[in-house]
Amino acid sequence: MKIPDYHVHPDFSLDARGKIRDYVQFAQENGLEEICFTTHLDLDPVRSSKEGWVRVNGTKIPNRDPSWVEKYLEEIENAGKLFPDLKLKKGLEVDFFPGVLDRIGTFLNFPWDYLLVSVHCINHLAVAHDREGAQLISIMDPETITRQFSKEVKEAIKSGIFHGIAHLDYFKRQANPWFQEKFLALIKEELEEILLLLKEQKMALEINARAMYRYNLKEPFPGLEVLSLASSLGVEIITFGSDSHNPLELEKKFDTLAQLAMKAGFKGVYTFSGGKIERWIPFTQTEPLHLAHPS
Ligand SMILES: [Zn+2]
Ligand SMILES: [Zn+2]
Repeated sequence: MKIPDYHVHPDFSLDARGKIRDYVQFAQENGLEEICFTTHLDLDPVRSSKEGWVRVNGTKIPNRDPSWVEKYLEEIENAGKLFPDLKLKKGLEVDFFPGVLDRIGTFLNFPWDYLLVSVHCINHLAVAHDREGAQLISIMDPETITRQFSKEVKEAIKSGIFHGIAHLDYFKRQANPWFQEKFLALIKEELEEILLLLKEQKMALEINARAMYRYNLKEPFPGLEVLSLASSLGVEIITFGSDSHNPLELEKKFDTLAQLAMKAGFKGVYTFSGGKIERWIPFTQTEPLHLAHPS
């Protein structure tokens, strides 16, 4: 059995390159078994000129009108018909910001298998972005940024509408030493509460490989320390995400993630269908990947 990939960006996201059928073809050729598409949904009006878009048939359209979702789901279904052995799941990566719950309503009426939530921004500034991160530090003190980040993560979890949380310590991608050292120390005090909430809500903790193959970090988001804490607190539901933005990145580094997850005390990964846990795949039954790209 192969470990499913639950964080995949097809070219509906402006920053992604592969079409849904390209991903599916790569998955088929490499013997993968299950992938969940998670197109970005960023509804923050302050950032809409930059991120409020989706690409449909090569055309950029505003994402707040949900009519594009039909097309997105249809493309996943059509790709699934070409390769019936492959399990394809329908999902989104929803950017969380104060006010998102008032705007996301109509998007929740679609038959999603898995809704990932991410806190990418504080005060409408992208935490991991070099320039925006620096701007954030110049206008808010470290403690306030950390408190705000933690508050938003908790609100996202407590909302009860999401099924997994993406790249929990994403900010460690920030090159600024303040994020590398201070934020990690400050957020540590908040993590236990966050992880216990996650467990209570039966949401998945994502282990995200992009940290390693794209940002050259030694560990995924989150790394061994946070994963071990999660496991010791009784969090069991995890998913793996490549956060791929082109098909060649599918399931990249998943063998490394599996070793790390086992080291942290996790016994397997979970899959979702219709927003509910579908199955548990123990690591004892997963096979190493032999992908057509170096991992
Ligand atoms: Zn993200
Ligand atoms: Zn992503």
